[in-house]
Amino acid sequence: MDNFRLNILGCGSATPSFRHQPSSQVIEHRQRLYMIDCGEGAQLQFMRMRLKMNRLNDIFISHLHGDHFLGLPGLLSTMALHEKGHSVTVHTFERGAELLRSMIDFIIGDTPFNLNFNIIDPTKRQVLIDDKGLTVTSFPLYHRVAAVGFLFAEKPKGRHINGEMARFHGVPNYAMEALRRGEDFVKPDGTLIKNALLTSDPSPSGSYAYCTDTMFDRRVVASIRGVDTVFHDATYGDSDAHLAAPRGHSTAREAGEIARRAGARRLILGHFSKRYTSEEMLGRQAAEEFSGDIILANEGLRIDL
Ligand SMILES: [Zn+2]
Repeated sequence: MDNFRLNILGCGSATPSFRHQPSSQVIEHRQRLYMIDCGEGAQLQFMRMRLKMNRLNDIFISHLHGDHFLGLPGLLSTMALHEKGHSVTVHTFERGAELLRSMIDFIIGDTPFNLNFNIIDPTKRQVLIDDKGLTVTSFPLYHRVAAVGFLFAEKPKGRHINGEMARFHGVPNYAMEALRRGEDFVKPDGTLIKNALLTSDPSPSGSYAYCTDTMFDRRVVASIRGVDTVFHDATYGDSDAHLAAPRGHSTAREAGEIARRAGARRLILGHFSKRYTSEEMLGRQAAEEFSGDIILANEGLRIDL
């Protein structure tokens, strides 16, 4: 399975509204789920989107404002009831780990699952996960408090094997991995079969950057340069641009500029202020800066990466 998909559980800003839920997303990669931020109500959205808790092993918290992590005690309490023997790693700052540890201790007591913390240093770029198919890296954002973004990057994939040709040339199963790596095949009689005859180019590798909460800052561009899809803080429109930087947020136009400078193919706008009854104009303002695809985030949205 090569699926790499973003699920948006919540994309509103701090003040609760009937229009949007607080921040939370789930990345699916192959059979695993990775949650980014866990605002209030995230577990219900998680269930509504038919995501499976037994596939969720990693939760990343961008910063310690309530709208990005207050759903976590509830989610972990539910997992404690149903996911005994499960293992969960929460990637957060030292203070977040301290807070969650005491909260979990109080609410759940002895967790019947294995709860680990991976401490993020918000001042630097840090590799959080590096497995066979995916790397997850945190990088500094520029908010009113320490905050980080996350970059999910698929590793280069193996070449596709042409099953018919492989059978025709008698390639045994154990030699398939070498074919995926691009090696030629040598038959037992010494005949060399060129890799190009047996395989075709691999599927492109996807990448995704989560950049909220943050004010406009060009250092973010350096951290995500060349990314395929970027989700960026677009709390405000032009009419409220004066509020953005003082509150540690960005406008949709600034999100467009970051995506353009980073060379992204696609921009997802989110973390919307509750003051707008429609986000259409945010999309238009971002489009004046960025000519790639622009998507307005929304609860329940699934996007292939
Ligand atoms: Zn915040």
